[in-house]
Amino acid sequence: MCIFCKIVNGEIPNNTVHESDHFLAFHDLYPKAPIHILIIPKQHVDCFQDVSPEMMADMTPFIQEVATKVGIDKTGYRLITNNGDDGGQEIKHLHFHMLGGGKLIWNHQ
Ligand code: IMP
Repeated sequence: MCIFCKIVNGEIPNNTVHESDHFLAFHDLYPKAPIHILIIPKQHVDCFQDVSPEMMADMTPFIQEVATKVGIDKTGYRLITNNGDDGGQEIKHLHFHMLGGGKLIWNHQ
């Protein structure tokens, strides 16, 4: 079982920001911005390339709610998903990184 499935199951603790029946948002253990949240589906999906349009449609308002909940919906944020090995995806369970809480530097690497 992957590490994020263990977080969903409660086997590994997490710092939850927001939760619904299908999705979970929690603080990244090693934040790369003042606010760094990971947003995942509870159902295991390997990566963005495999996600269904239906799941993304459900996930979109959840992601927006997370931004509102932590107060960065108006100030702005960056949403990233690393897809596959070349994309730098270390954990093979679909997740979006929400980064914010200050002006971010854009570095394509
Ligand atoms: P990836 O490189 O896009 O797969 O991102 C994985 C992210 O998961 C990294 O930003 C890690 O810091 C984060 N991470 C790894 N283990 C944990 C954990 O147990 N709790 C919260 N975040 C984690």
